[in-house]
Amino acid sequence: MSLKSWRELPTGGVILEAGNAAEYKTGSWRAFKPVWIEERCIQCLFCWLYCPEPAVKVVDGKMQGFDYDYCKGCGICAKECPEKAHAIEMVPEF
Ligand code: SF4
Ligand code: SF4
Repeated sequence: MSLKSWRELPTGGVILEAGNAAEYKTGSWRAFKPVWIEERCIQCLFCWLYCPEPAVKVVDGKMQGFDYDYCKGCGICAKECPEKAHAIEMVPEF
């Protein structure tokens, strides 16, 4: 999806199409990214539960890593990952 110019945006930046979140890849806003350490993961899925974006990949009920197209790097997943597992580390993106 290409970025719209200011002339193409609706007045006030109003979002007119419902259910359009999948079209907006929000990962480019990120300064830090979560890195999953698979061998430490206890598959509690807290990261998936608390992530405010569709950025934690779960397949057949198991954590599989992150979809960085949608991860904003907020760090909630790393904070909620149980201390005994400590399976997510936030690292600088650049
Ligand atoms: S850093 Fe934030 S947006 Fe990215 S996966 Fe973790 S909770 Fe989701
Ligand atoms: S919160 Fe941590 S231990 Fe739990 S599924 Fe996610 S990465 Fe694994």
